Amino acid sequence: MKLSVKAKVAAAVTVFTVVLTALVLGGVLSTVSATVTQNAEDNLRAVSKEVKRQLLFDDGMVEAPEALLVQGGVYTAVYSAEGPFLCGYMPSANLDSLDFKPGKTRSWGNWLVLDRRAQVEGYGAVHLRSATNIEQLTDAVHKMWIMALAGLFVIAVAASLGSYLIVRRCLRPLDTINSTAAGIQEGTDLSLRIPLGKADDEFHALGSTFNAMLDRLEQSFGKERRFTDNASHELRTPVAVMLAEADYALEENRSPQEQRDALAKIREQAVYMSELTSQLLALARADRGASRLQMEELDFSELCEMVGETGAELAAERGIRLGASIQPGICVNGDTALLMRMLLNLLENAVRYGREGGHIRLELCCEDGQARGCVADDGIGIAPEHLPHIWERFYQADRSRSGVAGGAGLGLAMVEYIAQAHGGSVSCESTLGEGSTFSWSIPALPAQGACAD
Ligand code: ADP
Repeated sequence: MKLSVKAKVAAAVTVFTVVLTALVLGGVLSTVSATVTQNAEDNLRAVSKEVKRQLLFDDGMVEAPEALLVQGGVYTAVYSAEGPFLCGYMPSANLDSLDFKPGKTRSWGNWLVLDRRAQVEGYGAVHLRSATNIEQLTDAVHKMWIMALAGLFVIAVAASLGSYLIVRRCLRPLDTINSTAAGIQEGTDLSLRIPLGKADDEFHALGSTFNAMLDRLEQSFGKERRFTDNASHELRTPVAVMLAEADYALEENRSPQEQRDALAKIREQAVYMSELTSQLLALARADRGASRLQMEELDFSELCEMVGETGAELAAERGIRLGASIQPGICVNGDTALLMRMLLNLLENAVRYGREGGHIRLELCCEDGQARGCVADDGIGIAPEHLPHIWERFYQADRSRSGVAGGAGLGLAMVEYIAQAHGGSVSCESTLGEGSTFSWSIPALPAQGACAD
């Protein structure tokens, strides 16, 4: 049988409460009943003892004070050792005929009976029988047991109902989490979130974790979708160009020169696609952790100077001036080819998206054991809504500004990968229409002087 958690908890609480209450009630009632019986016994003993003490033989008769023979509900009768009744009271004839058993108190029907032997001066041995009615006492105890049972039943019902309601209330957030998860599973709306209450409890923590997981899922699904959109867009253009050129070349009456031109264009696109796929491959390898870096101790300052010169040449083609401020002697442990690629990608972007006749700044210094640097331009800048995505593969802030001649949207993804592979990071600050600054920070080698701070 399948039981809900609520039912299981309610059943467990009920069983626990009922057993505990039964034990407590049973203990209390047994004690009460034993005490009540003990009191009656004590009373019986005391009266019988007193009668025994005050027995006397007078005027040929064995007697005791009248008041003692019926006292506090205890009746006492005196018999000769042979059996005949001498004095006192016995409320029932049956009690009279009961076997004489001196010593212990015994129960007989609703009566508690105590027999004693006694010696009366001048008469000899007599038998004493005291009896007290305990019907009211046993009735009262009996009623108490019935009330306790009824109470136990009420407690069982209240405990099961109460615990079920409390557990249901406590587990309500779990139902919300469940229905939200089911809603997401049924549909495709990853923007759904679990409403978090004010209570700072375990469910709040679970809901927050679940929401954080949904945030990440939504982000990665979005990234995935943008990647597919952008990649297909990026591949569709060259393929369309190649098809058009091939159709053109295959047309009748095309001169050998025209066919060669078309083939050259097809080749150009094929080269672009080949570069694209090798960049993608490099990134995919990096994702799998399969790409091996050729790490060596290198002078990063020199590398920046060298790539800066290439950047300056590229910039000059657009009338942009590149100014460099590079602290000499900064060494890092890194892959020369990859670090060159990182700097070149940033400089190419600065030229591509820079303002014609503008400026680019290339900086490098050592701070807190880190080789920190930046490439800053005064170009078109990046809108805030694009900024978080520029590191994604194939992401291009504005497609109309780029194209085959430009990049494919893999440059910054590569930059980020290279910085991270060197134990560092990159970031970007940008203002639309004013320019962008791409900064990096990678661990420097301390022994080289420049970073010995
Ligand atoms: P792309 O090959 O398109 O340059 P990147 O990955 O290098 O691809 O850059 C991604 C996008 O980031 C670019 O399409 C561009 O919109 C934006 N971007 C990169 N660098 C700059 C920059 N210096 N100034 C303005 N936008 C930039």
